[in-house]
Amino acid sequence: MTLRTRFAPSPTGFLHIGGARTALFCHLHARHNRGQWLLRVEDTDRERSSEEAVAVIIEGLRWLGLVADEGPYFQSRRTARHLEVAHQLLDAGKAYRCYCTKEELDGMREEQRARHEKPRYDGRCRRRQDPPPPGRPAVIRFITPQGGDLHFSDRIQGDIRYPNDELDDLILVRSDGSPTYNLAVVVDDHDMGINFVVRGEDHLSNTPRQIHLFQALGWEVPVYAHMPLLHGADGAKLSKRHGAVSVLHYRDAGFLPEAVNNYLVRLGWSHKDQEVFTMEEMIRLFEIGEVGRSAAIFDLAKLEWLNGQHLRAASPERLAPLLVEALQRQGIANPDPGLAKAVLPQFVERAKTLVEMAEKARFYFLEAHPEFDPAAAAKHLTPPMAPPLQELRALLADADPWDVTTVEAHFRTVLERHHLKTGQLAQPVRVALTGGTVSPGIFEVLHCLGRETSLARLDKAIAFLSRPG
Ligand code: GLU
Repeated sequence: MTLRTRFAPSPTGFLHIGGARTALFCHLHARHNRGQWLLRVEDTDRERSSEEAVAVIIEGLRWLGLVADEGPYFQSRRTARHLEVAHQLLDAGKAYRCYCTKEELDGMREEQRARHEKPRYDGRCRRRQDPPPPGRPAVIRFITPQGGDLHFSDRIQGDIRYPNDELDDLILVRSDGSPTYNLAVVVDDHDMGINFVVRGEDHLSNTPRQIHLFQALGWEVPVYAHMPLLHGADGAKLSKRHGAVSVLHYRDAGFLPEAVNNYLVRLGWSHKDQEVFTMEEMIRLFEIGEVGRSAAIFDLAKLEWLNGQHLRAASPERLAPLLVEALQRQGIANPDPGLAKAVLPQFVERAKTLVEMAEKARFYFLEAHPEFDPAAAAKHLTPPMAPPLQELRALLADADPWDVTTVEAHFRTVLERHHLKTGQLAQPVRVALTGGTVSPGIFEVLHCLGRETSLARLDKAIAFLSRPG
């Protein structure tokens, strides 16, 4: 039998890091087992769902490379089918209409509390003999089996036993005629041929209810795997405060999708002491039964470290367009893709993110000369540096060919003639070319900037240090 699972986000917000992890685990579990997974958008809460959130979820999954085999299906378009099943249960005597008013339900709960009982619906409408009060809206409730335990074996959480008496008669259809979450999920999982459910542990308490429904309908119950929740470093459930923001935030912050996936897989799953995984390795090695049960802790420093690893492993062909995008976001209008590819190796070891890389590489792509950092200019662009810089400029103007060896030879000639140490000339040149005192090797910078730009920037620096007063 082909394994079929699904990722079923509610579009009430963006795809956050916890949701992305669920999607990744669905993907890995399906791919590892040569199965399929589908995307089902659970948008039945019309007030809290939005099309914008749907678009952001789909874009987040696309960015991570988590491409479903089917879908997106939209739960809200299946209401008629959900209601059909509720009526099927009514007709079979496995559900009933409940006419209790809010006042009646409140009164019931009050009495239960007074008796120190857990407040729950007592099933009184199951036995209601009198005709329904005319015009009063009804809900449809499921007749939950009484006594005994419901038992199931969760692939992550282990054996779960749930006393049926803890469950009251679940509402299947609200008084406004809308199906509830538990009904919709069961009908959809069945109709979509889902035989394996991977979802967050926060749904564990829904599972006994859903299994009862499957059984009442005579449908095959899927296998469940409930993933432990994510916590922040302070132990609290992950929230925005901890960086539990949209996965697209990580794209904009300069992370690679492969690093985010790698990071997410390690939140709850491990393979020996391996830290860095490609998608191909994850698919090959991932076993859902090996996912741990304790809450996983979100740790940004670890994500940054992994991003550095994946940046180093990525080819310049792959990174160059991403560096171009990051530069554009930093206000560089038309970064030259060829230049981006050429300078990448100079930064890949020094940056944790593409954003950091773009900040460091920015000077290469400026159309005008760089702004001089005032402290760097005050220290290195001083009047006595005018003659050596002018001489270097003249030699570079005729350098042939324009390569690292030739520019270095001319640089050394100037050092000798002016009795300077390397740093005494390198730093002023660096400030001239990059605006600051930190950059890759100065000969590489000259080479990659090209003759024209290098000379223009040196001219600007010479004019700056020769300015009157
Ligand atoms: N729509 C639910 C959620 O976003 C998931 C339901 C499920 O996976 O069964 O939390």
